[in-house]
Amino acid sequence: MSSNLSYWEKATFFNFDIVIIGSGIVGLNAAIHLKKTCPLLKIIVLERGFLPSGASTKNAGFACFGSLSELMEQEAICGTEGLMLLIEKRWKGLLKLRTLLGDENLDYRQFGGYELFTNDDDATIEQCVSKIEHYNKLITPIIGTQAFCLANDKIKSLGFNNVQNLIYNQYEAQIDTGKMMFNLIQLAQSLQIFILNNCQVNEIISDDKQTVIHTNQGKFYCKKAIVTTNAFVKSLLPGLDVEPGRGQVLITKPIENLKIEGTFHYNKGFYYFRNINDRILLGGGRNLDFNAEATTEFGETSLVQNTLEMLLTNIILPNTPFEIDQRWSGIMAFGKYLEPIITEAKPNIFCAARCNGMGIAMGSQTGTDVAELVLKSL
Ligand SMILES: Cc1cc2nc3c(=O)[nH]c(=O)nc-3n(C[C@H](O)[C@H](O)[C@H](O)COP(=O)(O)OP(=O)(O)OC[C@H]3O[C@@H](n4cnc5c(N)ncnc54)[C@H](O)[C@@H]3O)c2cc1C
Repeated sequence: MSSNLSYWEKATFFNFDIVIIGSGIVGLNAAIHLKKTCPLLKIIVLERGFLPSGASTKNAGFACFGSLSELMEQEAICGTEGLMLLIEKRWKGLLKLRTLLGDENLDYRQFGGYELFTNDDDATIEQCVSKIEHYNKLITPIIGTQAFCLANDKIKSLGFNNVQNLIYNQYEAQIDTGKMMFNLIQLAQSLQIFILNNCQVNEIISDDKQTVIHTNQGKFYCKKAIVTTNAFVKSLLPGLDVEPGRGQVLITKPIENLKIEGTFHYNKGFYYFRNINDRILLGGGRNLDFNAEATTEFGETSLVQNTLEMLLTNIILPNTPFEIDQRWSGIMAFGKYLEPIITEAKPNIFCAARCNGMGIAMGSQTGTDVAELVLKSL
C-alpha cells in the first residue's frame, strides 16, 4: 500500500459493503441495481483504466438481437428452445437499457438492421431465405410481431456493389456507445456509487470475516466482491470458460451525401457496419485469424485492417471516395455456451461475464442478475 495514506483515507476510501471490479456496462448495471434496491449499501467500482478499458466504450453500438444467419448458427448450438430464451433475453435486455437511460441519452435510432449476401453467397442465402418464416414464427411471441423480410429493392438505393440479397429486420437499431457509457457513469454517480479509475485489481482473498481486494493502489476491504472484468476475468478467477476475442474497428471521415443508414451484418456477423454522423463505422474480421485475435492485447493488424478497407472499397462504398479517420480495438469474451456466466465463483466472490459480443442487449440484465445473487446472499 502507498506509504503516504492518511488515517482518514484508509478509514473512508478503502472500506465498502460491496466492491465491483470493472466499470463496463455489466459492472455499472450491477452497481446501479444494488444501490437502487438497497440505498444504504456502500458500493465502489474499481476500474483499471483511465476510462473503462474493455469492450463497453469500444463497441459498434448495435442494439440488435441477432442476424438471421447468426440465429441459424446459434440454434444449432443451443436448440430451438434455447435460442428462443436467448432472443427473449436480448430483446428484454434492450428494453431494460432503454428504460434505464432513456432513448435520448442513448441516441437510440431504429433505422433497422440488414444482413448482406454477396453474389458468391448462393448457398447461405438460400438457407437463410428458407428460414425467414421459421424465425418470424419464433420471435413473434417475444416481440409481438414478425421482423425479418427480404429487402432486395433497397440494394440500389444503398449503393452497394456485388450484393445480391438483403434480409431486413425493422426492429434493429443503433445507439451512441459513448453517450450510453457517459450516462451510465453519471447515473451511478448520482446514486452515490463511488467509481475509482486507474485502480488495477491483482488478487481477491476472502475468508469468513472479510474479503480483501489487492490493488495497485492498496487493499480494499468489503463483504462481497463482484468481478465484471469480462474478457480479463481469468486473471482473477482462473478456470472459467471465457476466451478473449479482439474486435478491430475503423471509422471513415464524414462522407458527403452518404446513402447508408442502419446497422448491417455480413458474412454470418463476422463483419458489421453502420452509419454514424455521416461516417461509416466498420468492424470485424476475427475469422481471418481466430488464434491471433484470441487475445487480451489491444491492437490492430494489417491483415484485418486491409480486409476492412477492401470491403469498404469493393462492396460498401464502391463509387464513393473515403478516408479512414480512426482505428481501434476492444476485447470481447466468448465461451462454449451463449449464456453469460453469472455465479458465486468462490465464497463471497461473485462474477458476471461473457456477453458473447452482445453486451448492449445482454449487459443490463446480466448486471442486474448478478446483483440479485449478491442481495440474496447478504
Ligand atoms: C469492437 C467491438 C464491437 C462490439 N459491438 C457490439 C455491438 O454492436 N452490440 C453489442 O451488443 N455488443 C457489441 N460488442 C460487445 C459489447 O461491447 C460487450 O459485450 C460488453 O461491452 C461487455 O461489457 P462488460 O461490462 O462485460 O465488459 P467490459 O466492457 O470489457 O468491462 C470490463 C471492465 O473491466 C476492467 N478490468 C479488467 N480487468 C481489471 C482489473 N484487474 N482490475 C480493474 N478493472 C479491470 C476493464 O478495463 C473494463 O473496463 C462489441 C465489442 C467490441 C470489442
